[in-house]
Amino acid sequence: MDPFTLTSTPNLHFGPGKISILPSAAKSFGSKILLITGTRSFPASTDSLDLLEQLDARKMSVEHFTIENEPSPGVIDHAVRTFHSFAPDVVVAIGGGSVLDAGKAISAMLPLNEAVKPYLEGIGKKPVHPGVKIPFIAVPTTAGTGSEATKNAVLSEIGKRGYKKSIRHNNFVPNIAIVDPVLTVSCPPSITATSGMDAFTQLLESYLSTKANPITDALAYEGLKRVSFSLMNVYHDGDNLEARTNMSLASYISGITLANAGLGTVHGLASAIGGYFAIQHGVICSSLILAANKVTLRKLRSEKETNGAIIKYASVGKMFSRSEGKSDEYYADLLLSVVETWTKEMDVPGLSDGGVATKDFEKIINASDNKNNPVTLTKDEMIEVLELAL
Ligand code: NAD
Repeated sequence: MDPFTLTSTPNLHFGPGKISILPSAAKSFGSKILLITGTRSFPASTDSLDLLEQLDARKMSVEHFTIENEPSPGVIDHAVRTFHSFAPDVVVAIGGGSVLDAGKAISAMLPLNEAVKPYLEGIGKKPVHPGVKIPFIAVPTTAGTGSEATKNAVLSEIGKRGYKKSIRHNNFVPNIAIVDPVLTVSCPPSITATSGMDAFTQLLESYLSTKANPITDALAYEGLKRVSFSLMNVYHDGDNLEARTNMSLASYISGITLANAGLGTVHGLASAIGGYFAIQHGVICSSLILAANKVTLRKLRSEKETNGAIIKYASVGKMFSRSEGKSDEYYADLLLSVVETWTKEMDVPGLSDGGVATKDFEKIINASDNKNNPVTLTKDEMIEVLELAL
């Protein structure tokens, strides 16, 4: 076994109704809260009124900042400038991955009171963030990104010279994650589908990753199992709380596995595409997962790989099979056919729907990497992946 390191995980409060502990959890850090939410679903919900009343009852002072889209460095800088003098004791983010990442980045930049861009990996000139931050509580309302368990926040500036990069430090793992699946019930099928496919991709990529270790393997396997019997149920019946709960757990687990085992080609390409095109992250992952795994599995077979990746593909495929005793080849192919069926059933858009065209392949590939894919894909193979995902 190769040596490995596992980073810390948040104090987790998981399950339906757990949102009720948020006021006391926040109060444990002090009386000044910076609350970050999206612009629509949470502020309009009765939960938000309850929460504000309870915070008020505890004599806590609350400043509220809203995030409209996937966050940019400019949005983080604006929040830091606005709330530095408020000096919150805790930052609480309630929302999808965009809101959680914004909260994570704001909590990391408030003590520095500086612009965030110089600290972004692959973009900034400053070598390392010192890891100081305001305590941070993450409350996801989608089941997909696992950001409530990760040590990075993804920020992007979208355009011809765009990028999507992370600010990252072990200390940025949220202090507390409150994962209440009830908060995801209001997600419409399209968001349930694409965020669910994001979690599925993260679990599969970290399971197959060249940096996987026995602990991430065990976790990823468990997460994949839950996705296998829950994603279609929750897509077709958004009120199915048991399926929502399984997806929330799978998503949380995917955050732990991605933070510790890394990801593969889908996420290598997704960062590049997300920098150039205003396509939601979950949509990008959903459109790439089948293509990237088709090409990866074919190459593993042609190279007669011995690193166990085909066996891992097969072990995931077996989750979907009713028949025992078939070959690894059979189960690995079954996995791909399930992903293909899901993609059609959930009507996942192709990359071309978001404006990606063949002429963009070169710059996308130049800005991407294979990350920890179980086999390195050549440029031609990356082109094939993109063509299949158009
Ligand atoms: P999102 O946060 O952008 O939300 C997508 C849409 O869903 C938004 O319109 C939002 O308002 C809406 N929404 C959120 N919760 C809802 C609810 N309960 N009911 C109804 N609508 C709801 O999407 P996401 O997929 O959760 O997050 C994507 C972002 O997360 C990307 O920026 C991606 O790069 C980032 N990400 C971060 C990590 C990490 O480890 N930090 C990992 C994966 C992805």
